[in-house]
Amino acid sequence: MDWKRDVRSLKGIGPKRASELHRLGIDTIQDLLSYYPRAYEDRSRVKAIASLVPDEPAAIRGVVRRVQEKRPRRGLSILMAYIDDGTGMISVSWFNQRYLSGKIKAGVKVFIAGKVGYAFGGHGQLAMKRVTAFEILDGQEGTESLCGIFPIYSVAGSLSQTFFHKIFRQIFAEDFSAEETLPPKICAKYKLMGRMDAVRAIHFPENLAHLKHARDSLAFEELYLIQCGLFLIRKHTHEEKKGIRHLPDHKLIRTLLSLLPFALTEDQATAWKEIKRDMERPIPMRRLVQGDVGSGKTVIAMLALVKTVENGLQGALMAPTEILAEQHYESFCRILEPLGIRITLLTGRWGREKRQTIYETIAAHDVDIVIGTHALIQDGVSFASLGLVVTDEQHRFGIAQRAKLAEKGKMIPDALIMTATPIPRTMTLTIYGDLDVSTIWHLPPGRKPIRTFLRPMSRRPLIYQYVRKQIESGRQAYVVCPLVEHSDGMDLMAAEEVYEELRANIMRGISCGLVHGRMKAAEKDRVMQAFYKGEIQLLVATTVIEIGVNVPNASVMVIEHAERFGLSQLHQLRGRIGRGSYDSCCILVSEMQTESARERLHLMVETTDGFKLAEADLRLRGPGQFFGSLQHGMPDLKVANVLQDMDILLKARKAAMETIHSHEGLDAVLPILMQRYQAHFLHILHS
Ligand code: ADP
Ligand code: MG
Repeated sequence: MDWKRDVRSLKGIGPKRASELHRLGIDTIQDLLSYYPRAYEDRSRVKAIASLVPDEPAAIRGVVRRVQEKRPRRGLSILMAYIDDGTGMISVSWFNQRYLSGKIKAGVKVFIAGKVGYAFGGHGQLAMKRVTAFEILDGQEGTESLCGIFPIYSVAGSLSQTFFHKIFRQIFAEDFSAEETLPPKICAKYKLMGRMDAVRAIHFPENLAHLKHARDSLAFEELYLIQCGLFLIRKHTHEEKKGIRHLPDHKLIRTLLSLLPFALTEDQATAWKEIKRDMERPIPMRRLVQGDVGSGKTVIAMLALVKTVENGLQGALMAPTEILAEQHYESFCRILEPLGIRITLLTGRWGREKRQTIYETIAAHDVDIVIGTHALIQDGVSFASLGLVVTDEQHRFGIAQRAKLAEKGKMIPDALIMTATPIPRTMTLTIYGDLDVSTIWHLPPGRKPIRTFLRPMSRRPLIYQYVRKQIESGRQAYVVCPLVEHSDGMDLMAAEEVYEELRANIMRGISCGLVHGRMKAAEKDRVMQAFYKGEIQLLVATTVIEIGVNVPNASVMVIEHAERFGLSQLHQLRGRIGRGSYDSCCILVSEMQTESARERLHLMVETTDGFKLAEADLRLRGPGQFFGSLQHGMPDLKVANVLQDMDILLKARKAAMETIHSHEGLDAVLPILMQRYQAHFLHILHS
């Protein structure tokens, strides 16, 4: 059988199902084969009904004794069956699944897996809730999958569990000659199951060990391919290009170090040493510095920029917002202008003419350090001799952008990327596999810790009285809300509502501002500026302030509906305060209706360590959502799980490195990389 064959060539797939499959991204048999089960039921552990315990998943087998159908109201039909296995009886309900009514009849033998709970209005009787698998056992079908491990697919429309089981049986009944993805040597060395066997085992596992071996092999393959992609980027943008060899530190750097009002912390010193070493090598630097908000990354950037200036080159610093660019500009000027370093701010605010003049000074090397937003690079600004590009808070950009950055210019400038999003230690390799990473684990000493409190909605009047007192004593405050407008059906405090409420009542006489994502950039900027300058005392905002400004005078933050935010996001938000010499306090307002909200918010109260919170966030929300919120530009993982597969990742990374260095089997890997991850690695594969 040919893997690339259209699914319509299979029995049982007509135009309707073909279009339903197409919606799932499945057109060929190969696509279908990689539609992996979302879970497995271990049917070797069927339980006796008498032994079931509420809130636990369970599988049962028994005979239907009685069936009831109800129509409590229009559009709702309930089918209820009572199952008896000789030890006891339990009810199962299906909602609006009328096609089942002809099939589930008294006397029919069934298998059901789900979660055990209490029957609605059943006076403590148990029921099977949230049915994950259901099968009628009479008849030929199912008998072969009666024991052992049973795959469960995500179903849609007419594509039922039974459909998937049947279609895979049909496919595997034919003979296959599968293409292997991995070089045979790698397969042998890492004891991987052949691709074809692994795919078959994923759909028809013989037992748990067999399934694990298959899954691990496919996870390995997936991580291996991505790591190959990352290594290729690295090779392309890093090792094969001629970079700039900076000279060892000279007078300027030494003067700067002596001028700093503090000594570098141990983590900062290590990061600086690593950066220096990279800069002094002839291959381009591609280094990421990760450190929590306030960990002191700016001074590291400054040192690196001064180093490039000391070498007679120019440096660029890209900030994520205009305001941050301006803040960096001010602090850089204060420290570096006395040393004779020429600094320019390039902002979108200025007119064409002024920008044009600046372009000319940059091209003529009449300026040493240029600070701006990332438009700085995209505008086609041409530097006389660019030695280093620093990007601040670059976590919102994917690998593709990182690679693009390095492609500017003839000589490749060194690249330093700063991110304030702590990534759990175990994940840096998957996300930043193409970069070297320096980490600032600890904040500089003497920082006043931010105190965090958790309060119910009923305490809002008291909370805002406290906020008002703080403002009256000269501080500024943030109030963060999850949504802009009140949206139907959700009882959420929207930013606009809160703004109006506060202004009209408890904050009367205090100058308040509102900023949210739907405002025009210029207007947003104007409000943020006013807050920065102290003209606005209380800023009501949505998460747009996450990577906003540095306002040391702002020492209070209230987060409404705190349960609506992820841990990492709450941490980023909280990082807006505690930047000055004042006691800072963050108040999380929430009713905490769910267990997970309670856990998250208590963690926020307990710790301010961004790495700890990121790890917890990853654990609580799962890799999918965690990755999603980072907008990292990495391909989605289909099999591998970054939380659990660290050991596989390390092995796959090692194998990928072997392949890239030895070239052995690379010819076979490239087309597959192309086919699977084209969108992510296109730029390298094309060059
Ligand atoms: P971020 O990592 O968020 O960019 P910053 O670079 O803005 O952090 O630093 C936060 C504050 O810490 C700044 O006021 C800076 O002057 C101060 N700082 C940085 N390094 C040290 C240090 N080694 N000792 C004391 N204070 C420091
Ligand atoms: Mg910073």
